[in-house]
This record gives sequence, structure tokens and C-alpha cells, in this order.
Amino acid sequence: MIIVIKGDSSNKDMNSLMTMLLEKDCRVDQGHAGQVEVWEVSPDERAPDPDFLRKIPCVEGVLGGDIKHPLVSELEFWHDDLESLLLKKSRVDSRRLTKDADGDYVSYQQPGFVSAAGRPFHIIAGPCSFTPEDDLNSLALALKQAGATGLRGGSFKPRTSPYSYRGMGVSGLKKLSDAGKKAGMPTVSEIMAPEQLSAFIDVDILQVGARNMQNFSLLKALSQQEKPVLLKRGMGNTIEEFLNSAEYLAAGGNEKIILCERGSVSFDPGCKIAFNLNNIPILKSKTKLPVIADPSHGTARADLVMPMAMAAAAAGADGLMVEVHPDPSRALSDAGQALTVKEFISLAKAVRKIVETME
Ligand code: PEP
Ligand code: MN
Repeated sequence: MIIVIKGDSSNKDMNSLMTMLLEKDCRVDQGHAGQVEVWEVSPDERAPDPDFLRKIPCVEGVLGGDIKHPLVSELEFWHDDLESLLLKKSRVDSRRLTKDADGDYVSYQQPGFVSAAGRPFHIIAGPCSFTPEDDLNSLALALKQAGATGLRGGSFKPRTSPYSYRGMGVSGLKKLSDAGKKAGMPTVSEIMAPEQLSAFIDVDILQVGARNMQNFSLLKALSQQEKPVLLKRGMGNTIEEFLNSAEYLAAGGNEKIILCERGSVSFDPGCKIAFNLNNIPILKSKTKLPVIADPSHGTARADLVMPMAMAAAAAGADGLMVEVHPDPSRALSDAGQALTVKEFISLAKAVRKIVETME
């Protein structure tokens, strides 16, 4: 159970609540969710009745034992923020915008796709990694034309072998953001350590990869800065662990979180990843944060990306992250799952059809 403490509580009231809980042999862990003080009380069976606790002067609220991540269970305004980020970045394309009498931009044609119910669908696309020779500018324009709303590209790559290509580093982030600016698209790139933050100044959305989902020092550092964070579920992590990692970000003060399902390690040697699409409706029932799906890492096979992208859209995802390389045969990471631009155009068309019919 979580007790939310009122901001102006006196020490005397808080001490008497603490004494009562300790006398019942409860364990009390004191922490903060944003600016608010919260106490995690366990086990639930020994804690006083929640209705009794709610009447105590220093108690703002009590959340049941099943709500272990109170902030990510409740946050919902972020969908609008995400849309305005995309709007701001899409401003170069004046055909999408209309002005009101004062000359302010008030409405626009959604850069991505919109469901029948008016829900926006975002597609973040781009290479796993790239080299100085790869033409990201033309790629970004082609992706945007096909309906992508964000440009991805890894410049600090977590690789299994220390001898594999690990990205262009700082100069790659500049190349990515230049391409994003030229095409009018926000950029997404993976950050692996808090010390890298200053290099990501021109990147719009910071990606925490599956391998770093429980890198708590990284999560803490990202919670204390303002850029949105795209958090991927670890390949062997549970939904509860995933939501708790998101809670780290929110509790530290950053509520701009996008959750990304990217599949789990599979037991089947014939198919190394199992794409957990059931997690999409589960996550959407447990949190109001945007939930996107990554069918590229979720399948690790280019031929499976399109059908699983369609399935993710049908399962209710708010968007997709898809790997597209200017020339997959030259890709130095995740070549086997990279789509060509032509394949991405077909994927976008197929996904759009599904999104547009969804309520
Ligand atoms: C990636 O997005 O290129 C990546 C490494 O993803 P993941 O962390 O899901 O493996
Ligand atoms: Mn990749």
C-alpha cells in the first residue's frame, strides 16, 4: 500500500502516523513521487484499513497494494504534449498548418495517421545505426513522405561483442539531428550513460534500450532533465518491472514517458525473439502513457516486420518504431531486420488502413 502525505503536514502528525504503522509491525519506506512525499507500507495485511488511514490529518490519499507505481498509473496529459512536440517539429511543412485570425497556428493536418476516433498514431523510423557514408537526409525525407512522424538512429550502440560496430558517437548525433531538422521531424536516439547527456542536446527524444531498462542511475539522471524518454521493455523483464522503471522517471520529475514493447528472448531456436503483443493491451489497461511497439527488434527478421507492425496497430498500440536503412545490405547492425524505404512505404500504407478503421 502507498500512503501519499499532505504537503503541509506537521512533523508531529507524521511522527504519530509512523509510530502507529511501526507498532503494527509494518515496514515503511519513505520516498518521493515528484514533489510529493509517499510512504510504501508493507505488508498490506498488517497495515491499518485504508478508509481509517484516509481520515488521518497528514494523509492525502491511500493507494491499494496492487498499485505499486502510482504516477505511471495516472499520468495522462502527456499524449497532448507528444502531439505538440510533433506539431512544433512539423512546422516547416506549412501545408499541414492553418492559422486563426491572430495568425497563430491552431489546427493542422496530423503528420502521422489518425484513427477513426481521432487518436493519433506515430511512426518513428530510421536505421539501427549509420556511418558517415549513409545519406540520412534523403532517408528522412522519404520516411516523412511515407507518414513517419519521428526519425530514429543509434549513435551509441549497445553491442553484444566489443568488436562490433558501436555507432558514430557524438558526430552521429549531429548528423541525425541535422537530417531531422531538414525533414522537419523530431529525432530519437539511444543514450547509454548519464555522462552522455550533454552530447544529446539536439536530440528530441532519449531512448533507453532494452539492456538498460533497469539501469537505475541512468533512469535517475533522465528523470532530472526535461526531454521525453522512450523506454523499452527489457527482453527478460516483466510488465511490473517495466512500469516500475517508468515510475523511476516519473518519481524523479520527468513524466514525459513513451513505453515501447520490443519482444522477449524466446525459448525457440527457430525464432530467437517472441514479440509480446499481448503486452500492448495490458500496458494500456495499467497506464495512460503512450504505448508503442517495435516490430523490428520484436521479430529480428525483415520479412516479419510488416505483418507484426499491422498486428501491433490492431492490438491498440499508439505507434511504432521501425528500423529502415538506406541500404540494408550495408547496415553494420541489425541488418537482418532492416527494411528498405520501399518496404517501409508498403508497411506504412498497410498500417494506415488498419489505424484509420480503429475506434
Ligand atoms: C535499438 O533500438 O536499436 C535497440 C538496440 O533496441 P533494443 O534496446 O530494444 O534491443
Ligand atoms: Mn537495432
